[in-house]
Amino acid sequence: MLLDGARAPGAKILVSGGSRCNVTNTTVTDRDFWGGKPSIIRRVLRAFPVEDTVAFFGEIGVSLHEEAGGKLFPDTNRARDVLAALLRETDRAGAMLLAGHRVIDVVRAPPGSPGGGLRIVTDRGEMTAAQVVLATGGQALPKSGSDGAGFAIAKHLGHTIVPATPALAPLLLDAADAMHAAVSGVSHDAELAVWIDGAVSIRVTGSLLWTHFGVSGPVALNASRHWLRGRLEGRTVAMTISFRPGARFDDADADWQRRAAANPKASVQATLASMVPASVAAALLRQLSLDGAATLAHFPRDARRTLSRALVESPLPVTGSRGYTFAEATAGGVALDEIDAGTMASHRCPGLTCVGEVLDVDGRIGGFNFQWAWSSGFVAGRALAAG
Ligand SMILES: Cc1cc2nc3c(=O)[nH]c(=O)nc-3n(C[C@H](O)[C@H](O)[C@H](O)COP(=O)(O)OP(=O)(O)OC[C@H]3O[C@@H](n4cnc5c(N)ncnc54)[C@H](O)[C@@H]3O)c2cc1C
Repeated sequence: MLLDGARAPGAKILVSGGSRCNVTNTTVTDRDFWGGKPSIIRRVLRAFPVEDTVAFFGEIGVSLHEEAGGKLFPDTNRARDVLAALLRETDRAGAMLLAGHRVIDVVRAPPGSPGGGLRIVTDRGEMTAAQVVLATGGQALPKSGSDGAGFAIAKHLGHTIVPATPALAPLLLDAADAMHAAVSGVSHDAELAVWIDGAVSIRVTGSLLWTHFGVSGPVALNASRHWLRGRLEGRTVAMTISFRPGARFDDADADWQRRAAANPKASVQATLASMVPASVAAALLRQLSLDGAATLAHFPRDARRTLSRALVESPLPVTGSRGYTFAEATAGGVALDEIDAGTMASHRCPGLTCVGEVLDVDGRIGGFNFQWAWSSGFVAGRALAAG
């Protein structure tokens, strides 16, 4: 019996991947995830790897194709076909789906209770069960029905909840300090570095989208959880952007010198606009108070070095994220080391199993979060079917 608080289950599948549902990725390893123990994540992924996901969806009538970055989408490019196939399969397997049944709590039933050891309290009455699978998701997109209630249920049943933050969330920039408003709507490749207590903790690379509130796009979404976790832990957190992914100051500065030698009459602005979108070039020069009309031959050394530094390490004044309403995932959740990696069963509460995003696992963008849901769901289902 499947209880879902939402009247129309699968809301997240419908909105996922721009309504096309990025079902999984050609290559998924534990390095694509953050949160709980990598060894547990690895074991769960190995039990139901990508090939099995592709075969499963093929069997239920959803063939997949690959796109940039190894992302796998349904051939029809319609998320609703993925949901329809899963609901058909739920029915074929003989599961009873009770939509519009919100679970308020799950409590241990008194020993010897008829029906099982767990009492499920819903907004439509109570029932008991020997086995309960908690698949409530995290807190991202709360209007879909995943609003963090699962964390409270798991906590009542004895689990440690690793404090949650949004993950894969657009980032807000300080309006007084940043150039985003001037370049809203522009995107380009970038490398973001998250600094924790004065040292680079992680660098992520990908497409960045400037918006009216700050930054979005895959690279900003991937970086968000690191900034938010650092802040949650009370650390000193900062973020910098490199407009030349992979390059460091010396590379960038040597590049300017080469360009100056090769093309001394070119303007700084035009040269910069050959590296980044023209509007970004103009905004960057304005922010640095540099004269873009100067020719490379007359570009002072100090100014050149200032620009080289800014190209590879400009401060990005992040003030926060757009929160769970706009996040695609949740970092934190049920502590993974309290779960048996071979069955997803709880070490804390007999009869309880936890799967998916309610656990302290969050993947980067590209189909990884769904793969975690498929793999952990399979591991739980196999164990429960085996009794
Ligand atoms: C906008 C958006 C786009 C995304 N795109 C992608 C993508 O393309 N690829 C990808 O891999 N990942 C994507 N994700 C992430 C992915 O959707 C989630 O990681 C995944 O859906 C998690 O699956 P889950 O089953 O654990 O939880 P969920 O999908 O959140 O499902 C939880 C279910 O539990 C129900 N529920 C919660 N609490 C209760 C309760 N108390 N009582 C009864 N029912 C309850 C909810 O109604 C919901 O139906 C996206 C997420 C968002 C928000």
